[in-house]
Amino acid sequence: MDSANRGLVMVYTGNGKGKTTAALGLALRQIGWGRRVLFLQFMKGEGNVYGERIAAQKYLPLLEIEQLGREEFVNLSDPDPIDRKLAQQGLERAKEAIKSKQYGLVVLDEVCVATACGLVSAEQVIELLGAVPEGTDVVLTGRYCPEAIIDMADMVSEVREVKHHYKKGIPAREGIEF
Ligand code: ATP
Ligand code: MG
Repeated sequence: MDSANRGLVMVYTGNGKGKTTAALGLALRQIGWGRRVLFLQFMKGEGNVYGERIAAQKYLPLLEIEQLGREEFVNLSDPDPIDRKLAQQGLERAKEAIKSKQYGLVVLDEVCVATACGLVSAEQVIELLGAVPEGTDVVLTGRYCPEAIIDMADMVSEVREVKHHYKKGIPAREGIEF
């Protein structure tokens, strides 16, 4: 299907800071038009508190944020089977949400990393994206977006690190990193 109204597949990848926050910016834009947004965070646990989640709970009833991972960091070179299972469940959740047509935007935050380290396969993600209905746009974020996903996406932006304050030893800060 290639009509003007079909759902778009958009990707924010690259090694610089701003991918997840770009997706949140789009979420805000959608909400302004009264659309519901589902923001699924792969590889992140419930216990991690992010400003966006607090904002959603307090002020943004149209924004639903769900963490699909666990607290422990995923070992990217040798992921635990539990991480694989959680990511697979996350993909099922995404499929069901996209099919429901209830959301103007579904964000799969960090799904590119989950794909790159083998928690889900690029084929699975592409199959999911092939079934995006009219009225639902989808955003994927994360470093190392596989070429096959880049090929089928409608929009891809690469955020490239020019500088990051982390390199000066400035640690993660409330309202900036989380
Ligand atoms: P943000 O959530 O701030 O938009 P991001 O989604 O682009 O960042 P990720 O790759 O998801 O970045 O990394 C998440 C965390 O790593 C963020 O806290 C971010 O500040 C930090 N980070 C991102 N890019 C870099 C970098 N080039 N060097 C060091 N830390 C980084
Ligand atoms: Mg991110």
